[in-house]
Amino acid sequence: MLNIIHDPESASLGATVEAFLNRLSGPAAIFVKGKDRSRTRVICTLLHGNEPSGVQAIHQYLSNGITPAVNALFIIGSVQAALTPPLFSHRTLPGKRDLNRCFKPPFEDEQGETAGAILQLIHSVKPEALIDLHNTSGSGPAFGVSINGDTDHLALTSLFTNDLIVTDLRLGAIMELSEREVPTVTIECGGASDTSAKFVAQEGISRYLAAESIHAEPGLDYRVNIFRNPIRLELQPGKHAAYSDTPQPNADITLPKNAERLNYGMVPHEEPLAFLGSEGLEVLTAKDHLGSERLNEFFECREGQLFCKHPIKLFMVTTNAEIAASDCLFYFIGCAD
Ligand SMILES: [Zn+2]
Repeated sequence: MLNIIHDPESASLGATVEAFLNRLSGPAAIFVKGKDRSRTRVICTLLHGNEPSGVQAIHQYLSNGITPAVNALFIIGSVQAALTPPLFSHRTLPGKRDLNRCFKPPFEDEQGETAGAILQLIHSVKPEALIDLHNTSGSGPAFGVSINGDTDHLALTSLFTNDLIVTDLRLGAIMELSEREVPTVTIECGGASDTSAKFVAQEGISRYLAAESIHAEPGLDYRVNIFRNPIRLELQPGKHAAYSDTPQPNADITLPKNAERLNYGMVPHEEPLAFLGSEGLEVLTAKDHLGSERLNEFFECREGQLFCKHPIKLFMVTTNAEIAASDCLFYFIGCAD
């Protein structure tokens, strides 16, 4: 199920990330002994096969042959999806579930079994913390996501970025391990093709694995901004999005081609967000973490266009129609006027 490797020799890793993934050939766990062998920190990545920054940074870290401060366990998830040509273009294998929605029972299908094996391994090493590295589907700055905003989670986040989304939403993502006393933060390093994403992953990994302690020090201000409970704007089942600067007749919603420029920005209520089709707002849903529909509270349709009623801040705006249909269009939080 999981290919387990201990202290790999740099020469055995392959010269490129592609060669490295080919050698792993499937979901893998790599143990590296640290200076202090009584403690372990985990880094997980590539749960989504089209998000390369984490595995690129791990390949580089391992190639450099650095001895971490404590034992390191690297988990590399969707190796086969990543290797399906063209390289790093598949979030999941066609027809398979999203691995980062499978960290809750039942662990029955292949993805569930992989997630179950990863959880078992993580529990067996009793780690101090877990970092899960991702890329956003659009371009944008890095931020963390966690289910817990306590100071330990802020300290972990601050190794990578200064913004943290804290959510009460439960989707079966690996960051939900925080509920079982493994402080866990997902780091969205930025877009897969953003140069900055690679540096966020590389520098964050070196800081995380070099630090003597990663726990919060009393009285220290980690200067992390917290955004609580963003809401997902989703398409209703069977509806689809297009990305164009003119309304597309077959789409239920047409977002601008450069929609990802909205990432992290505040959108005022007079700025149109998208063109809507003949069904207007009906094709959308925006349920909060409690399951309450909030669509009409935040959005309205005016002359065939989507507007927010109050200023909102957007995160994780995608420009990929497939992700828009299967996951969400974007996350948002309301801002004070
Ligand atoms: Zn991801």
